[in-house]
Amino acid sequence: MKTNPFKIAPRTLRLLKQVGQLAYQRGENAYAVGGFVRDLFLKSPGMDIDITVEGDGLDFAQALARKMKARVEAFTRFGTSIVIIPGFGKVDVATARTETYETPGSLPVVEKSGIAQDLFRRDFTINAMALNLSSVSFLKLLDPFRGLEDLKKGRIRALHPLSFVDDPTRVFRAVRFEQRFQKKIEPETEKWMLESIRQKSMNTVSGERLRHEFELIFGEAHPERAVKRLGELGVLAYVHPSLGLLVEKRQKLPQLIKTLSFFKKNKIAFEDEEMVWFQTLLLSLSPAQGEGVSKRLMLSRNEQKIVVQSATVYPEMLKTLASKKMPASQLHRLLSPLAPETQCFLMAMATPPVWKKMADYFVKIKNLKPWLRGRDLKAFGIPPGFRYSYILLEALNGQLDGRFKKRPEILRWVKKTFAS
Ligand code: ATP
Repeated sequence: MKTNPFKIAPRTLRLLKQVGQLAYQRGENAYAVGGFVRDLFLKSPGMDIDITVEGDGLDFAQALARKMKARVEAFTRFGTSIVIIPGFGKVDVATARTETYETPGSLPVVEKSGIAQDLFRRDFTINAMALNLSSVSFLKLLDPFRGLEDLKKGRIRALHPLSFVDDPTRVFRAVRFEQRFQKKIEPETEKWMLESIRQKSMNTVSGERLRHEFELIFGEAHPERAVKRLGELGVLAYVHPSLGLLVEKRQKLPQLIKTLSFFKKNKIAFEDEEMVWFQTLLLSLSPAQGEGVSKRLMLSRNEQKIVVQSATVYPEMLKTLASKKMPASQLHRLLSPLAPETQCFLMAMATPPVWKKMADYFVKIKNLKPWLRGRDLKAFGIPPGFRYSYILLEALNGQLDGRFKKRPEILRWVKKTFAS
């Protein structure tokens, strides 16, 4: 048998062997599982490795960390640890476990188990495959639900009819994987999914978990595809009645993508990129609706303020921006106080001429170096005080609007008008 049938990168292979050896020394079994195995078959191996141990995962993680001179971060609640290996990356180590859901949507009750039950608790067949790491069966595939066949046939398939009732966040995961891998949610799975949604299963999920699922979607390469699909499936409206994907919102998605990539290309940094998405999702809502959705998704007070304000203020702003004879200084005055997230949102909502005007602003105006600085005023002997900001602003406006053609003109103006 080939020792590396999956063409795993040499250092990853070495690590998997070391994990297998450690398990052998400890009299336990270790498996690579979940997304790591799926991505190997997709030939797009990720950086993170998920290991499941039939035994004591927490203790195993400590031993692995010692062996690899690594750091371990433990999350004892689910018996999972993250081992951070210098120069390699993250290895998640978990104890093989069953999960039972006492009430739908709640977090599961966890019990130690073997690998078979551990795979059965998983979301989709493509994520329920494992590779044995013990040396006798090194890299032997365990695929009890025929995940490999589903992967090849392009299907996202849940393991049982109540999967989405147990954990409705799997609806988001199904859509996310479907769109990321360009597969299709298998028809029966879609039926189970829709049944659980119509039974209002989303109501059982905490706002924190919902928000997290949205964040994961916004972090995908093509969040717009998943957002659109969630709207079509009716999921958004069940998260909150005001959130259904309106036609208007759907039409804005391509321009949002274009604007986000414009921001990236021009190195305009966001503090919190997901806010742009939340602003778009909450588009056109009344303040009361906006507040309702924000609360449901556990947005902070500040985030709430941003999304509610932008939902109500942006049409007016866009109208003002559309005015034909707007001097550059006014454009600057309107746009510069806004956070990049709000600037991006506005641009995403704009008509093509306003989009172009804003793009020009970012490229040509935003980072313009003012010709007049405070030190110039000092050099003229103007005493520092509130007059400084007035003079500097007037000079900048004149520069932006072309009233001053170059720096010496501004200096002459300052000398004549303000220096006594
Ligand atoms: P990604 O590439 O997005 O990280 P992943 O499959 O690695 O995808 P994780 O969220 O890291 O996703 O989860 C790791 C594994 O844990 C999954 O492959 C799946 O087997 C299992 N899993 C995660 N979330 C759930 C869930 N809600 N229900 C059941 N199994 C889950």
